[in-house]
Amino acid sequence: MRTKTIRDLTDAQLRGKRALVRVDFNVPMSGGRVTDDTRIRAALPTIDALLSKGARVVLLSHLGRPKGGPDPKFSLDPVARHLQELTPARVVFVDSTDSDEALEATQRARPGEIVVLENTRFLEGEEKNDERLARTLAELGDLYVDDAFGSAHRAHASTEGVAHHLKPAVAGLLMERELAYLGDALASPARPFVAVLGGAKISGKIDVIEHLLPTVDALLIGGAMACTFYAAMGLEVGKSLVETDRIPLAKHLLDRAQGKLVLPDDALVAPSLDAAASAHPVPRDKIPRDEAMFDIGPRAAARYAQRVAAAKTLLWNGPMGVFETAPFDRGTHAVADAMASATRSGATTIVGGGDSAAAVESMGLAAAMSHVSTGGGASLEFLEGKQLPGVAALDLKEG
Ligand code: ADP
Ligand code: MG
Repeated sequence: MRTKTIRDLTDAQLRGKRALVRVDFNVPMSGGRVTDDTRIRAALPTIDALLSKGARVVLLSHLGRPKGGPDPKFSLDPVARHLQELTPARVVFVDSTDSDEALEATQRARPGEIVVLENTRFLEGEEKNDERLARTLAELGDLYVDDAFGSAHRAHASTEGVAHHLKPAVAGLLMERELAYLGDALASPARPFVAVLGGAKISGKIDVIEHLLPTVDALLIGGAMACTFYAAMGLEVGKSLVETDRIPLAKHLLDRAQGKLVLPDDALVAPSLDAAASAHPVPRDKIPRDEAMFDIGPRAAARYAQRVAAAKTLLWNGPMGVFETAPFDRGTHAVADAMASATRSGATTIVGGGDSAAAVESMGLAAAMSHVSTGGGASLEFLEGKQLPGVAALDLKEG
């Protein structure tokens, strides 16, 4: 059964109604200004769709990690002002959330107008998913729309609790897109279905590997994670980042994988990260004792690019190396380029994970993928096969 979205609502369910929309406006700020408005823009399709149906839009979001109540540093005021620059609709900011003033502002708003309420993390019961707060928030709208996929793995009052007290409770367009790609596309993938997994630690990705192994045709491993697998194979890993306590688990996964787990043939190694000038490729069984693997090697990069080119569904999570420091960004570049051209050839390509998404964006390739997930932690939990509480609380489509 599918989650209901704003597209399943009738005009009568929207016209003149107050749509309480949980968005993810947790944007980078500097000197009281928004420095990257990607997340604000990502919410515009949902906001516009609601406004065009004559709804009144009330926005809820968290920003940063304020400790112990309101803190002007984390006010959504500058975010509301930035939103006003992006939309012709009138934007009103209210510097509270669970107050009479906030409630009155939602009631006073006219169809086609937007009210932005103050940071939900200023509220005492937000992170505890306090029932009373959830009921108070529910008063702020006539329907609930969740478009904050990046927060859906947390059961907070504004992401989960409120959905039980305010119906209909449906997904926004951004949320719908995330569910379509991370959910539907991966549940019945066009084959071959190839996943590329990297990043620093195997420990954070074990459940993802376990969940993907039965459905993928191949799982290409990169990042420091590869070194823990090398160690499990009895190879010398030098000074590479290895999670010693996970070696038995890596062995177990290799046994279970029936050849689906593909490890890099070679490694780009160096004595240390700041000795990038002495980086050189070695076969995986020749990693020097006093050097570390910081990227997959050129042979592995070429082989992975080939596997990517031959796939019809691709999922990528975790960079292939320390992509923040050249030349250890080469493996990550190779995979990103191969995925971009696979997209052009008709493959479905999905990138999930904070650092992988950042890598793809910094390379200017985000638009070249079918979907780059906006939820780091949430996308990872989704790929582990977990139900996200913020999604589970929403209404299901009938039939
Ligand atoms: P994501 O956020 O996409 O899920 P992770 O957080 O799991 O990715 O991993 C990203 C980090 O992994 C990056 O900071 C990168 O520098 C690091 N990393 C990748 N390969 C290596 C390696 N061989 N040695 C050390 N760190 C690595
Ligand atoms: Mg990360």
